[in-house]
Amino acid sequence: MNLSHNSATSAQALICSTGFALVVAVVVLESVASCGAAAVETSVKVVPAPAVPASTPLYTGNREPLLPSPFIQLPIRSIIPKGWVRHQLELEAQGMTGRLPEISKWCKFEGNAWADPRGQGHSGWEELPYWLKGYGDLGYVLNNPEIIKNARKWIDAVLASQEADGWFGPRSLKTSLEGKPDLWPHMVMCNVLQSFYEYTGDERVVPFLTEYFKWLNTQPGANFGAGYWPKIRFGDNVETVYWVYNRTGESWLLELAKRIHDNMQDWTTGIHDWHNVNLAQGFREPGVYYQQAREEKFLRAAENNYDILMGLYGQFPGGGFAGDENCRPGYTDPRQGFETCGFVEFMHSFEMLTKISGNPLWADRCEDIAVNSLPAALTPDLKGLHYLTCANQVQLDKNNKSPEIQNGGTMFSYSPYERYRCCQHNVSHGWPYYAEELWLATADHGLCASLYAASEVTAKVGTGTSVKIAEETDYPFGDTVTLKISAAQRAKFPLYLRIPRWCTDASVKINGQAVRCAARPLAYVVLEREWKDGETVSLRLPREVRLQKWEKNDNAVSVSYGVLTFSLKIGERWERCGGTEAWPELEVFPTTPWNYGLVVDEKKPAKSVKVVKWDGGPLPAQPFTPATAPIELRVPAKRIPQWKQDSQGLVGKLQLSPVKSEQPLETVTLIPMGAARLRITAFPVIGEGKDAQEWKAEK
Ligand SMILES: [Zn+2]
Repeated sequence: MNLSHNSATSAQALICSTGFALVVAVVVLESVASCGAAAVETSVKVVPAPAVPASTPLYTGNREPLLPSPFIQLPIRSIIPKGWVRHQLELEAQGMTGRLPEISKWCKFEGNAWADPRGQGHSGWEELPYWLKGYGDLGYVLNNPEIIKNARKWIDAVLASQEADGWFGPRSLKTSLEGKPDLWPHMVMCNVLQSFYEYTGDERVVPFLTEYFKWLNTQPGANFGAGYWPKIRFGDNVETVYWVYNRTGESWLLELAKRIHDNMQDWTTGIHDWHNVNLAQGFREPGVYYQQAREEKFLRAAENNYDILMGLYGQFPGGGFAGDENCRPGYTDPRQGFETCGFVEFMHSFEMLTKISGNPLWADRCEDIAVNSLPAALTPDLKGLHYLTCANQVQLDKNNKSPEIQNGGTMFSYSPYERYRCCQHNVSHGWPYYAEELWLATADHGLCASLYAASEVTAKVGTGTSVKIAEETDYPFGDTVTLKISAAQRAKFPLYLRIPRWCTDASVKINGQAVRCAARPLAYVVLEREWKDGETVSLRLPREVRLQKWEKNDNAVSVSYGVLTFSLKIGERWERCGGTEAWPELEVFPTTPWNYGLVVDEKKPAKSVKVVKWDGGPLPAQPFTPATAPIELRVPAKRIPQWKQDSQGLVGKLQLSPVKSEQPLETVTLIPMGAARLRITAFPVIGEGKDAQEWKAEK
């Protein structure tokens, strides 16, 4: 074991393992005049991951012998989300998550096994913890007193339910797996309590979790490998065990974490289970355990799991994969779906791996799902969701689509009800967790703008002084991020700016003056200087139209502009198919043609694609609808008449491109994928000549 191991090194290696060239930090020292004041020296570096110095971080990070974390999550109240992210949170508060007790029996307090001091009652499984995990955090990030109060009622009840042996919550779970405990729902409730502690500092939480883990430590190893869900998802608990260890230093917790790792599903030797949510949260486990194992092979195992999964099933845009319950060989077309639980769990995994590895690729992946996929999993008012979101999905009706979609019954129409029971509750943490990760503390006493969005962060930096940074941006709909620093006294600290993988020409200004830096995709620009009140940093992330070819899906192409991927704008007809006036279930049908192939110059896509931007006013509050999409693309296209929906309403599978079409040339409009609930995102390419294929009518 190499005790001087520096995790920045492993992040470099990790980036290499994904095909990105090893980069060496470039240090350019120069003077930048600041607002007419005396020149202040600024150190400018471009690094693949943050440095991890030996000094103690300003926030609670990993305690030895765990590897130090390059990034550390800030206390929840440090970040105030603004702009479109805040609006998603506000819609969530007014929508299904904020009002779920009105319509979910699992969230009824009266008689609930999670609310009873003796753990007796109804609904003692994953649903209540799933909902509370995001609901509490929603209250914390919005500083919404009513939500915080309602969450607290549940949390107080859970904290009052502990038995002498450390077990808490529903007593039925203690024996519900053929006499053995079902340990899965407790993993989720642990997350609820971690956030509650981070927000309140409540002194009950750490001893409570310690007592629970003492009980868990009495269990035979076989119990960590029991049950379908628990054994695959036990990495969730490993993360919480480390969280408690970092606050108490009790070394038996690390022995417990090792026993869990050794006995649970082995995720270090590739993928052995193909359930979509298990994959989305399970794949990361070796990356979490890497902090204890201190060997790069564990971090690589998580990356390898991701690569295997996405190589086989993620061959279309949006950041998800074809897992409409399980991944199935032969079902890899972009019409296959990904569960809403899968999206939010994948995001949570990427957020964790960003902090553990320092590798900005994970933040990129998180952002990809957040802006391209999660919004369309929900109705624009966040009052309903569907189980499955697909990159190509032209009709959201309630009818059965099995066996082409694995599950029978309703999977596509929107509903706020128990029809999609897990997602109905679990979707809650998607946006709150995202808002909590906009800014991260760095191990070297700085701050990182990790996920760009309008926000305000107040945090300790340098030698412990507090600064506030206001982030103004329309990102991802705009290309400029402006950071305004407020500080009562000068503070020397490094400011990390993430350069996304698609941006080859990023530029930085300090107080209006250009900073020379060789900013590269998938790196951080680090600006270290003695910052003072009123200074500004401006980051420009120029975007260009890009085509991505999906060779494993018949040479289809998708079009992106910055992080945003674009889908065909399809006319929508919304029809209520159930529910109530207040809580409708909704189907969506297409009112305009969707069966287009694109006529594009694959080498010079910018030539054939016109970008039409919002006219300069403030962004619409909810940018994720066809009517309010802040950017549109105009692209030449031709229809493919033989490409149709099948008898179950499912969009026909892609066929090999280039494709012949005798139809007239038209100009179609594409909108951001997140705004397109009906969408074609992986398009056939229209071609001519010998290579062009005739589209065969489906039988
Ligand atoms: Zn679900």
